[in-house]
Amino acid sequence: MQNRSRSTRFTLGLALILSSLACKRFNDPQSQTSSEDLAKLPQTNTLMPSSLSGPGARLVPIDIQEARYQISFDIPHHKAEGTAQLTFVMQEGGYPILLFRNAPQSLTLDGEAQALGLWQEFSPDPKAESFAFIKKNLARGEHTLTIAFEVHTPFLQWDQGGLQLMTIGSDIRELGQKPDPMVSGFLEKYVPSNYEWDQFPSHYTFVLQGASHDHKVMSNASVALDAQGQWHVDTPASFNSSALWIHILDPKHFAVREGSISGLSRSLAFTLYAPISRAEDLPRAEDILRATLARLEANLGPFPHSRYIAGLHGPSEESMEYVGGAYSDLGTLDHEIAHSYFGRGVMPAKGRDGWLDEALATWVLYPAWPAGSLESLKGTVGSASPYDSLTDSQAYTVGPSLMAYLNSLRKDQGGLMPLLRRFAEANVGRTIAWESFRDFVIADTPDIQKDLVNAAFGRAIESPSTP
Ligand SMILES: [Zn+2]
Repeated sequence: MQNRSRSTRFTLGLALILSSLACKRFNDPQSQTSSEDLAKLPQTNTLMPSSLSGPGARLVPIDIQEARYQISFDIPHHKAEGTAQLTFVMQEGGYPILLFRNAPQSLTLDGEAQALGLWQEFSPDPKAESFAFIKKNLARGEHTLTIAFEVHTPFLQWDQGGLQLMTIGSDIRELGQKPDPMVSGFLEKYVPSNYEWDQFPSHYTFVLQGASHDHKVMSNASVALDAQGQWHVDTPASFNSSALWIHILDPKHFAVREGSISGLSRSLAFTLYAPISRAEDLPRAEDILRATLARLEANLGPFPHSRYIAGLHGPSEESMEYVGGAYSDLGTLDHEIAHSYFGRGVMPAKGRDGWLDEALATWVLYPAWPAGSLESLKGTVGSASPYDSLTDSQAYTVGPSLMAYLNSLRKDQGGLMPLLRRFAEANVGRTIAWESFRDFVIADTPDIQKDLVNAAFGRAIESPSTP
């Protein structure tokens, strides 16, 4: 994501090929069977937040195994309705927590219809975002949930005989401002989903009824059109709620530029597209992609994705990175491409970890960022509630300043860049907590400097009130 209030540029990019690396431990076939088997399995995901005390039972984060979504667009009546079928596991009994910024029209749990009144909102602390939970006490084990819903988003626009839909995310919380739930957030604005620590495969079917012209689906996931004229988008098991880019559009109004680039270890296929009125941006976007890719590969090793797709917009819109893709303008495209390594290559597990990908995507393109003193580091970037999905906008200032400081400490070891290369190679395709980056740095720091590294992280994450 780019923060428009700053001159520095940021955002990111795709790991389809990494999907197998990121498979959940529950993808093991015997895990799909029964809750007796579940008892034998290890903890699903150590990055999952703890359960919370709720009204009458624990509020328990869920681990989605697979999601199937069908969304039908009644174009003449400007109506969009969807159904979500989720299979999920709970590691303890209680009320299941979901992320969905919308109200269900119907609710079925383990095959039984439920009263809509069971759908409730909870806010874990006054400063954190709220989430939804179903006030139905479920046993530890695997469950199924079907939710019917209407699609309400400013990113669905109807036009003459057709529509445009973009699954735009916005992962930055401006300092001191409450996020707009319809604009800020990830996939949960569109369909029931989960926090970023949860990686799971999804299958989308889009049914366009009454369209008077053809549509096309641009996506960083695999797209197919079937014989009935329905679109299918399938995401790999490595995707989380911030990974996916889908743009349903009228191809008459867009220009597309495709090609391939020889990377360090393989060829990268790219798709760049823009509204016809911005078609002149496409050759420049290709130049930026080629130059940025060459620079990033020289510093950080092979590009982590086998393809790249970017939709181009004008300077008035926000840019955002996706896995192997971006929605961006020319000025922020290099930052979004850098997120292909940090953000949507190595992925933050929670909003409180997202500062790290803004810090790294910024610093790797500006490694001459001036290093200040230890005392000049002052921030609270990684200390939010684990149930807060968004990243504080101070990530763009405190984050690269911390990296500049670490780079200066490591001048006798070739600076920070070689360590970032190893960190990316070790973690791409996985979600991580920011603490694992700190530990990676400390493990590679001479004993005499370990206290300084610890202190630098401490000041950036939660500055002491007195310097
Ligand atoms: Zn960014």
